[in-house]
Amino acid sequence: MISQRLARTAAAALLLPLVIGGGHAIAVEDRTAPIPGSSGVGDPYWPLDGNGGIDVAAYKINNRYNLKTFQLRGSTRIDLTATVELNRFNLDFLLPVTKVKVDGVKARFHQRDKHELVISPATTLAARSPHTVKVFYAGNPKSKRYAGEKNWLANTREVVTMNEPHMAPWWFPVNDHPIDKATFDVSTTVARGREVVANGKLVSKKRTRSGTTWRWRADEPMAPYLAFFAAGDFTIKRGASNGLPWVNAVSQQLPAGEQRAALKLLSRTPGVVEALSADLGDYPFSVTGGLTTGLPVYFALENQTRPTYPSVGSRATSLVVHEIAHQWFGDDVAVARWRDIWLNEGAATFMEWRYAEQHGGQPAAETLRQNYEAISASDRFWKLSIADPGPANIFDEAVYVRGGMTMQALRARIGEEKFWLLIRTWLETKAGGNGTSEEFEALAAQISGQDLTDFFAAWLRTQSKPAETAANGLG
Ligand SMILES: [Zn+2]
Repeated sequence: MISQRLARTAAAALLLPLVIGGGHAIAVEDRTAPIPGSSGVGDPYWPLDGNGGIDVAAYKINNRYNLKTFQLRGSTRIDLTATVELNRFNLDFLLPVTKVKVDGVKARFHQRDKHELVISPATTLAARSPHTVKVFYAGNPKSKRYAGEKNWLANTREVVTMNEPHMAPWWFPVNDHPIDKATFDVSTTVARGREVVANGKLVSKKRTRSGTTWRWRADEPMAPYLAFFAAGDFTIKRGASNGLPWVNAVSQQLPAGEQRAALKLLSRTPGVVEALSADLGDYPFSVTGGLTTGLPVYFALENQTRPTYPSVGSRATSLVVHEIAHQWFGDDVAVARWRDIWLNEGAATFMEWRYAEQHGGQPAAETLRQNYEAISASDRFWKLSIADPGPANIFDEAVYVRGGMTMQALRARIGEEKFWLLIRTWLETKAGGNGTSEEFEALAAQISGQDLTDFFAAWLRTQSKPAETAANGLG
């Protein structure tokens, strides 16, 4: 769902270049004629991500996936609201579409641009009216590419849809930007004897003539890139800790020892959730867990309610801390624009340091000090402005480490009490929504009662190493 303010600016963006989350409420003129929705929400890093004029509330995905041939076939029902009067609108999708229905009536469509599914409903959609769009499709996601990325991670025994910032358009039609969160109901049919795992809770598992259909539902709205499914041979463990249900899954493609280690690592998830809740407030979702894939992937991803991991042994607790910290920073409070990525990665890195200081490791202040001393002023690390790293660098090491250093330096600058009040206020006031770096900086100034302009400029915006001063949290 799009927040009220963003919905208004998204509508205005049909005519004006959009600065999402910029804080300017632009009045929408009364219109006499319907207009086409734009092909993007206006994120300068990826102009085609998301679409103008629509606000999705729910996705109901019904897919059949053949592990052996990589063929994916299915339909997705999208419940959306037209935010302006539309005669045409777009979705983001890479697979060939065979049919589109809007409110039960066949609609014209084309896919001339490979990422944009352009839909022309038989009748125009009135402003602020709810609609149901159903898209039917079939194709091979492994062959698809967008923005230079080929993100289908699969072999003939397993698939897991994990990537950031783009993953959704490989397996369902979508308004693919974090500002449009929605609920997800994902049914996936695979050959009998195979397992499917996705976000949220398992609703049902039904045998059909041609396979088994696994239905998972995520009740709390999420950014589309955080939706995932995995299929293959998985050991699935379920339980509850302190009233919070969890589902863990480990690929049987891994050697037996690695499977045991992965299950052991994932079993720490509820404890990590509890430890982080003490700092961050209540865990934002109704279920947790994790999945370890047997596929060769070199990153973990904070899929909402159920992060996905590569096989990393049983001792990589800090990786679990990182992905669970993202459930608050990144998932519950998502970026408003991709340039705000340091709010996700810096906070998750900082929470690794914080967890360590509370579990027998060194104080986070020491971790800041070590990094500051180890990275020389001439290092390219300091050349990146992490508040606007550019699309090629959103996962640069500096976004993580300089971001984590920013958080710890802020803690030193404004003091323990104000810092945690800031963090909790940020997470509470932005819960279920999106935030920009500027909004976080303004809240920090408000809560601390300090002018932090120079502090944030030094840490987030200068292309040089911050001076070793008390004002920079390095006293
Ligand atoms: Zn991360």
